[in-house]
Amino acid sequence: MSEQEKEILVTRSALPPYAEFIEAIKPIWDSAWLTNMGEFHQQLEQELKTFLDVEQLTLFTNGHLGLEMVLQAMELTGEVITTPFSFASTTHAITRGGLTPVFCDIDPVTCCMDAEKIEALITQRTSAILPVHVYGHICDVEKIERIAKKHNLKVIYDAAHTFGETLNGVGIGRFGDAAMFSFHATKVFHTIEGGAVSYQGEWLKERLDCLKNFGIINKEQVVAVGGNAKMNEFQAIMGLCNLKHLSTELEKREQVVNRYGERLAGVKGLRLPEQQAGVKSNYAYFPVLFEDDFALNRNEMYDWLAGRNIHARKYFYPLIPDFDCYLEQFGQADIPVARYVAERVLTLPCYGSLTQAEVDRICDVILEVKR
Ligand SMILES: *Cc1c(COP(=O)(O)O)cnc(C)c1O
Repeated sequence: MSEQEKEILVTRSALPPYAEFIEAIKPIWDSAWLTNMGEFHQQLEQELKTFLDVEQLTLFTNGHLGLEMVLQAMELTGEVITTPFSFASTTHAITRGGLTPVFCDIDPVTCCMDAEKIEALITQRTSAILPVHVYGHICDVEKIERIAKKHNLKVIYDAAHTFGETLNGVGIGRFGDAAMFSFHATKVFHTIEGGAVSYQGEWLKERLDCLKNFGIINKEQVVAVGGNAKMNEFQAIMGLCNLKHLSTELEKREQVVNRYGERLAGVKGLRLPEQQAGVKSNYAYFPVLFEDDFALNRNEMYDWLAGRNIHARKYFYPLIPDFDCYLEQFGQADIPVARYVAERVLTLPCYGSLTQAEVDRICDVILEVKR
């Protein structure tokens, strides 16, 4: 297969050097301690607290269960205002918790929840707002906080895309009452599967530690209807290893994103992501909007790229309220901006080991069709 034909997937997991990981897991053969909040679980929790610049942090076996459990820990009721433009996890966490999602439209530039449209959706039954920092773009955290204070609502951010980001030097996990990070294999930082919730205050720490271990607090006492969401020691060691190499991964991603910018900026009909003031980016994704004055529409571009062995992703499409499991109940949501973006967006391949030659090949294929 020539370089031109080599398959390029939308992402590729970063792995630590093999020998380093093998060395790091050796102690497990002495201790035979595989899970249940072992030594490496504790160590990763501490290191991430520092790295993410957050007050409190609880690890989970994946981000989704962290989100479910923080909603449970907060004892929310009724309705939760959220975004239709996200991964299935965000809304599933709400509905699986017996709560009702209410969909707020998004901002056309950041693709995050449009804070101007939140208040009109608040009712007597609203108990929380669950926005998503989409693609690593940061929500209007100040306005959301003002609204939440005024109406006495909790704010839980789905921060799955924002590992390591800061806003004006402050860790992104410090905004809102809690924030969920995902450490899934496809994310900027991963523990194979994994995740964490950050928050302020001791009371949540106790509840989350308890909920993720079946609600058990000691050998003879079970105090809550918890689940099983403990991160195991192999996951934690993968995280500790990856954390050591994260700055290199971020530098490489920055080069990928900058190269896309150099090649695609100013092309009529393409809308590229904008750098937000005060935000330290993690270069997680490179979303491009194929607007109506571009030669191919999004679906045609997706097929055109796939025909040349380049796999982009319609991320996010379909919108959550349009999923088969939600369509009947929520398909009529008033979300015109989300619908506009979902029809036009493609995230291009973006990961540290993507070479400049590969980015150029992707851009050449895109630009070949420009009018
Ligand atoms: C990845 C992701 C999740 C789920 O995280 P997991 O760790 O895979 O459970 C939730 N929300 C968004 C926006 C994500 O991208």
